[in-house]
Amino acid sequence: MSKTTPIPPSDYRTAAAAGIASPRLQKSLQGIQNRFGKGAMEFWAKMDDQELRHRVKESRMNTLAHLDIVLAELAKNIRARGGQVYFAATAQDAIDYTLAVAKKNNVKRVVKGKSMTSAEIAIDPALEEAGIEVVETDLGEYIIQLAGDKPSHIIAPCIHLDRAQIGQLFTDKLGIDYSDDPPTLTMAARKALREKMLGAEMGLTGCNLACAETGHISLVSNEGNIRMATTMPDVHVALMGMERVVATFDEHRETLQLLTRGAALQKLSTYVSFQGGPAALTDPDGPREFHLVIIDNGRSKILADPEFREVLACIRCGACLNICPVYGKIGGHAYDSPYCGPIGAVVTPLLDGINKHADLCKGETLCGACRDVCPVENDLPRMLAALRHKLAYGSDRWNTSQHNPAEAYAFALWKLLVSHPVLYRTSLWFGKLFQWPFVRKNKMIGSLAGLATGWTKDRDLPPLAGQTFAQLWKKKYAARRPNESRAQSKEAS
Ligand code: SF4
Repeated sequence: MSKTTPIPPSDYRTAAAAGIASPRLQKSLQGIQNRFGKGAMEFWAKMDDQELRHRVKESRMNTLAHLDIVLAELAKNIRARGGQVYFAATAQDAIDYTLAVAKKNNVKRVVKGKSMTSAEIAIDPALEEAGIEVVETDLGEYIIQLAGDKPSHIIAPCIHLDRAQIGQLFTDKLGIDYSDDPPTLTMAARKALREKMLGAEMGLTGCNLACAETGHISLVSNEGNIRMATTMPDVHVALMGMERVVATFDEHRETLQLLTRGAALQKLSTYVSFQGGPAALTDPDGPREFHLVIIDNGRSKILADPEFREVLACIRCGACLNICPVYGKIGGHAYDSPYCGPIGAVVTPLLDGINKHADLCKGETLCGACRDVCPVENDLPRMLAALRHKLAYGSDRWNTSQHNPAEAYAFALWKLLVSHPVLYRTSLWFGKLFQWPFVRKNKMIGSLAGLATGWTKDRDLPPLAGQTFAQLWKKKYAARRPNESRAQSKEAS
């Protein structure tokens, strides 16, 4: 039986190489991509309402264009129902507010629903530092918490662990007899979590979607944990990225349909919980206090840039991970962010620094599969190319410096060559002459020297061909031209 080994933080390249080298991870990734990636594409193709994705995309972009008004409407309607709304400009503001609510209510234990926003602002360590016990209640997140690990998928956080590892983890941490039987393990987690739920004073969740017109948030789950975490404790705090709002109930209904289809090929998830204020005195259960924390944390900057605003239309369904050939090989830990896969490769640099995540910006293939599968048709490849442009040339707006000046010089040289045919042909001639010491028996260049070493570190490079395309073209097709013109003149006569 295998032991769970927590994965330490590491850079993109190292973690990607580790992911590729793990047969266990490759099997898991292949499994999820075969089922959900291909499944989502088939789902969209067979959907009766082929206009739904366009409509939702349009409504998302429309809401983003009027975000201040829509958020004000949401806050007004939640406050009218007795809920409290706090606008947090930074992650620290959101943490401070939540800690103040916890302190006021003498909270000793928080039960959480799955929330990427909570991971983005790193609220768990802050709560724990304040002496508050934090318990994840989503099964996948609970496993990750027990393992001291990090999530590796937006929807399936422990996809990188197999059931033997989880069985051993439960034996070590929950003291049950070893089993790798999923229902047995689920029942063990359920028992442990129910006990935690019963004594919790605060529920802390994310927010899948908020509806301004009705003043409520909705939370989807297939386990029922969210409903318990939001109704059993006296206080419910929901953390919401400020873009996760829609204007009308109709838009909410349509967006929700795409979310559950994109996430798990479901027409609707098993549970959809609506929250928008404290429980009424006549309600049998529900929180006494409801707080919605609307978090900016860098989103305003994205909103203000027409090049990247579209990324805020994302509904975090995870479908792009399930089809991405890069995610499908390296897994989620390489992204070192709660947001992994193609969406993470765009949103993490924008929220946390483009230079800091330069390798991440350059890691995707730009094949376009993520754009095809995305329920809201987000053009992630276009945005990745825009990020690379900022790395190549620098950007004041994004405080980005040129990432690799040598690369810029190489392209300047390339531009010079291709715009001067004589120079280009001469350099090819020299290139062919001097490449031979590097060409191996398999007729590939195995390793380049100097600045070009990195290019051949993980792949072979074909040598310059003996004849250029122009020479081949001339040889193969130039001879045909007289016949063609004869045929044409025959036709004409
Ligand atoms: S970019 Fe599209 S596919 Fe990816 S998580 Fe967001 S909504 Fe889903």
